[in-house]
Amino acid sequence: MNLPYAEPYKTKMVEYIKPSTIEERRQWIKEADYNLFNLTSDKVFIDLLTDSGTGAMSDKQWAEMMIGDESYAGSQSFLKLKETVKQITGFSYFLPTHQGRAAENVLFSVLVKEGNIIPGNSHFDTTKGHIEFRKATALDCTIDEAFDTTVYHPFKGNVNIEKLEAALKNDTEDRIPFVIVTVTCNSAGGQPVSIENIKQVSEVCKKYDTPLYFDAARFAENAYFIKIREEGYQDKTIKEIVKEMFSYADGMTMSAKKDGLVNMGGFIALNNEEVYKKATVFNIMYEGFITYGGLNGRDMGALAVGLDEATEFDYLETRIEQVAFLGQQLVDAGIPVQQPFGGHAIFLDANKFVPTIPRNEYRAQALAIELYIAGGIRSVEIGTILADRDPFTHKNRYPELELVRLAIPRRTYSLNHMRYIAAVLKNIYASRDQAKRGYKIIDEAPIMRHFTVKLEKLVD
Ligand SMILES: *Cc1c(COP(=O)(O)O)cnc(C)c1O
Repeated sequence: MNLPYAEPYKTKMVEYIKPSTIEERRQWIKEADYNLFNLTSDKVFIDLLTDSGTGAMSDKQWAEMMIGDESYAGSQSFLKLKETVKQITGFSYFLPTHQGRAAENVLFSVLVKEGNIIPGNSHFDTTKGHIEFRKATALDCTIDEAFDTTVYHPFKGNVNIEKLEAALKNDTEDRIPFVIVTVTCNSAGGQPVSIENIKQVSEVCKKYDTPLYFDAARFAENAYFIKIREEGYQDKTIKEIVKEMFSYADGMTMSAKKDGLVNMGGFIALNNEEVYKKATVFNIMYEGFITYGGLNGRDMGALAVGLDEATEFDYLETRIEQVAFLGQQLVDAGIPVQQPFGGHAIFLDANKFVPTIPRNEYRAQALAIELYIAGGIRSVEIGTILADRDPFTHKNRYPELELVRLAIPRRTYSLNHMRYIAAVLKNIYASRDQAKRGYKIIDEAPIMRHFTVKLEKLVD
């Protein structure tokens, strides 16, 4: 019998969300300088800004909150988490941090020097930020298929092995301290990396004696795709696949706000004792003592349970099928979205949706603003604004893709919410020809400008 998937959980507590009118939202977004990050949450009906730290914890996680051990040193909650991380990833050394970018900050303080090159698959914005902040370069080695939203490739997050090998081969001055592979690849649209590719990356890294790290924020979703799409993995459990994935790496940084199923948290896990020892110094300086690293004991306990729940098949199936349900509704309406659908989000292809808006007027941002005004739905631009300016020339970097990301929080919204989002988008799509002008930047920060940028609406 072929039954549809059904959520393997029921609701124990509800949080009301506020509807509003188009007129109200038009005014609110203007007051927010057309930056969706500036909106207060009461002005948002469905919040798809991010799936980071916005999910719902389980009753078991809440129960852990009650028995959290808040000891400064040697907390039992820390030990519980360290043990869970060891079981799930296989890594022996573990440092908690307050979130993913903090893990990057600590680890990169050890590993990244001025002039370094860090190859990877479409580095996440904070990863790139932490690399460029240290006057090093993030080298994108993602496969070309990732940049065509219409071609099907089961693992669009894959690394182009030739490109990676060429970089390592040409590295005669030892400028590449490590390679970082993001699973799933957020910036390429939540696209997974295959085990085969991970294995190849690992072999090339070994050949050139270069460590391999994972940016592992969505490692469990990546494992789900491997199970569903990669030959030979259908009969393996998610936990087995996860273990194999990590066996090819030397270490990882983690944003626990994603597949940790908690609202705040992160960590570093790795095999190399020397790197660990150096990292502890930075952890103590930036985060806190090594047995809490900026986290409450109760948060570490909830994270330990979250990691276990996130690596269960039924949970992942519900999550990823809900995202795909939204994607399919849009595809059926002819709306251009990245395919195959990502694990945590659907990405609208603004180059195809609103080609009538010039690129230097931030067409993806313009589409995101329209989605907010029309339906109270908050999404995020993954396009020219996010791509920042070139650190050397200070010119806009126009990325190949102009995307609007609809990130779906974990265990939070219903299928009816997905239907509502699809209906709003269908309306916008029907009148897309009328969109002619976008926005201009009136104020921006030198790095990671998207969080605080101020925009002005352009009119003919
Ligand atoms: C979210 C994320 C980060 C940064 O983590 P924070 O917890 O937001 O600091 C890094 N890499 C990837 C792939 C992410 O998704």
